[in-house]
Amino acid sequence: MKSKMGLTTKIFIGMGLGLLLGLIIRVLPAGFIKDTLFLNGIIKVLGTGFISAIKMLVVPLVFASITCGVASLANIKSLGRIGGKTIVFYLFTTAVAISIAIGLGFIINPGVGLDMSSLVIQEPTIGESQSIADLIISIIPTNPVKAMVDGDMLQIISFSILFGATISILGEKAKHVKNFMLSLNEVCLKMVNIVMAIAPIGVFGLIANTFATTGFEAFGSLIKYMIVVLLALAVHAVVVYSGLLKGFTGLSIAPFIKRFAKVAAVTFSTASSGAALPITKKAMDDSGVSNKVSSFTIPLGATINMDGTAIMQGAATVFIAQIYAIELGIGQIMVVIVTATLASIGTAAVPGVGLVMLSMVLRTVGLPVEGIGLIMGVDRILDMCRTTINVFGDCICTLIVSKSENEFDEEKYYSSDDTLIDEVTA
Ligand code: ASP
Repeated sequence: MKSKMGLTTKIFIGMGLGLLLGLIIRVLPAGFIKDTLFLNGIIKVLGTGFISAIKMLVVPLVFASITCGVASLANIKSLGRIGGKTIVFYLFTTAVAISIAIGLGFIINPGVGLDMSSLVIQEPTIGESQSIADLIISIIPTNPVKAMVDGDMLQIISFSILFGATISILGEKAKHVKNFMLSLNEVCLKMVNIVMAIAPIGVFGLIANTFATTGFEAFGSLIKYMIVVLLALAVHAVVVYSGLLKGFTGLSIAPFIKRFAKVAAVTFSTASSGAALPITKKAMDDSGVSNKVSSFTIPLGATINMDGTAIMQGAATVFIAQIYAIELGIGQIMVVIVTATLASIGTAAVPGVGLVMLSMVLRTVGLPVEGIGLIMGVDRILDMCRTTINVFGDCICTLIVSKSENEFDEEKYYSSDDTLIDEVTA
């Protein structure tokens, strides 16, 4: 019989069973069953094996996705000002988003009180401070293959950006390389899907381990982590985006929100900006944005603008640093902001990729990737919310750019004729 149960449901079941098993193991006396069979046996294989599978995907995924993201900017030159404005807006708001998340993280301190430092499987490499000059030099790989072998994320990113930009500059002459990279990207995304299919089992092992070793303390911290992410998403949407829309265009946000509700229904249920693309575009058409602007800004936004994802990554970085009792210096925080902003270019518009990219952000500042195990169980719910903000940001940018370019029909924006949207959702 073909299983109809969705992945989200399976992850929740994995989480619940893991929690149950963890609490049972916790009360078992030390000995063969508890230590050898469970903690260092079954649970370790399932949980650590899953994290290793995620780590395995990071280097190829980052290389392929950032290269394709940058190479797809081919038409920036032809779009001139619109292209420039859009990209600056996307990158700037992403950096603001992650700063809000990190700021709230340090106020709410979700991971303080939960000590996982004894569970570090690899030595954290954090600590040495670098001068700005050294940091800049260290971003440039003298050997890109070595950068990939060492998993040096900043070097891989800088090489991928140059590689993608060159593909875009060469155009026709580089079409075979571009096609190859596009297929490689597809293959990497499919691998993410395959690995994600075993997520319920991985989550089962990871959560069982967490609750066997830390008990219910983990619950409170996880809830606080979720609060940080949700609060940062809300602040970003209500304060930053609404403020930018009002400040730059003078438009009231209400007509847009009404149209966006239908887009949000799709982003929320699919957790994929990509899946929501057609209805997002329609919502922008209904809002009076010209096709010239929206046909460029909306697909580009779905590809490179992920403010909600950056928020999760900022909050998760603070959370993971805190549970492993590792202090983040100002230099490391700057590196996290830059890396997560660049990571958003490489995050595919499908469910769960933000979490894989998080392991890249963590590695850049030397935090233990194992920390992802704890937040994995609650990630799907957050993914639904952050994807909604990812798309919300694309729409706000589109409205601002189209108004500033006089490519905007204000009368249509304020009219209540939503027939196009109704057609899509029907
Ligand atoms: N699901 C997100 C999106 O499609 C990406 C992520 O954060 O995983 O926008």
